Amino acid sequence: MMTPITQDVLTLPRKPEEGGKLNLVGLTRMQMQQALQDIGVPERQLKMRVGQVWQWIYHWGVQDFEAMTNLAKGFRSELGAHFAIARPQIVTRQLSEDGTRKYLLRIAGGHEVEAVYIPEENRGTLCISSQVGCTLTCSFCHTGTQKLVRNLTAAEIVGQVLVARDDLDEWPEPGKPRDETRLVSNVVLMGMGEPLYNFNNVRDAMKVVMDGEGLSISRRRITLSTSGVVPEIARTASEIGCLLAVSFHATTDDVRDQLVPINKRWNIKTLLDALRDYPRLSNSERITFEYVMLKDVNDSDADARRLVKLIAGIPAKINLIPFNEWPGAPYQRSDWARIEAFADIVHKAGYASPIRTPRGEDIMAACGQLKSATERGRQSRADIARQVGA
Ligand code: SAH
Ligand code: SF4
Repeated sequence: MMTPITQDVLTLPRKPEEGGKLNLVGLTRMQMQQALQDIGVPERQLKMRVGQVWQWIYHWGVQDFEAMTNLAKGFRSELGAHFAIARPQIVTRQLSEDGTRKYLLRIAGGHEVEAVYIPEENRGTLCISSQVGCTLTCSFCHTGTQKLVRNLTAAEIVGQVLVARDDLDEWPEPGKPRDETRLVSNVVLMGMGEPLYNFNNVRDAMKVVMDGEGLSISRRRITLSTSGVVPEIARTASEIGCLLAVSFHATTDDVRDQLVPINKRWNIKTLLDALRDYPRLSNSERITFEYVMLKDVNDSDADARRLVKLIAGIPAKINLIPFNEWPGAPYQRSDWARIEAFADIVHKAGYASPIRTPRGEDIMAACGQLKSATERGRQSRADIARQVGA
């Protein structure tokens, strides 16, 4: 059964970081302005000070107020006394043979989330999480089996981008010409969690990530993936304006009810109606339909034909995802020939139908698998310790 939650129920109040200091990371410009005003920065200086601090944090990537050399020494110590510039902590980092980097990050409360960096020829994509676990229970997704759920704060969402840039050594150096080739050029909200059940924090975080005086990743290089939280789709267009991907995965309500149970609340027709308006509302080109290929479940020629009929009139790209199997999963990956036949029908109907190349398989960097694999690792180490009486 689907857990009835609304997006705000899980949102934690913004807590000062450990040590009683407020983390400046993840605050919107308005919130940062308020924070500076609260420590006595005069009204007429507020905008300028926010601009300066913002650049230090998001353009230069500094982690210490002392490095903010265009601010007076006294003001720097004042900032340091009240605020932190905190990021999630890297617990493990794994490097795949194909260059994919998978991070397991620790956040407040001892929770852990994953982020994955995928380098490609002319871009680098960082896949980030929006929640610890997920309240939805898509039957093919391992994240959905995790019990623990909480929304990430805006700081924790932005922090994933900062951590990746730290690790890739991608901050510009003062005095050196800026290198225009970006390592983290794209961001996808396709890690753990349903971003539209954490709307406000995801929106605030993406505003920070898009800000032209900081990380400066354009809204056309950010893709938010949703399982189909229909009431939040129009807001995504108007308040974030990023590209949208939707976890479609089935062509009949019967099958989609099984695979993506949120379909029982907002069925295929309701979802498609909301999607039809998205490109116009967000002024973007097309929607990505994600379609996981599950052997003998949703991968027939008839499915492919139904799919193109359903989405007729919506500017779309269909991303076929070979199922990433996990231990105990109730499905199998479709055969390669089947995936290609499916892709062919979609392609002939006039839609781009790329098959997502599995990346980082040697380090299990696929959706929802990282944390579970690590947890299993821990579990077995703990078991071994118990067995030997340690
Ligand atoms: N909750 C959001 C975003 C995170 S999942 C959503 O569902 O869209 C990102 C994508 O990975 C989704 O399309 C999801 O359906 C897909 N996915 C999850 N588990 C998978 C698996 N084991 N194999 C292939 N794709 C998977
Ligand atoms: Fe949650 Fe997305 Fe996984 Fe479904 S596919 S359980 S919405 S993370």
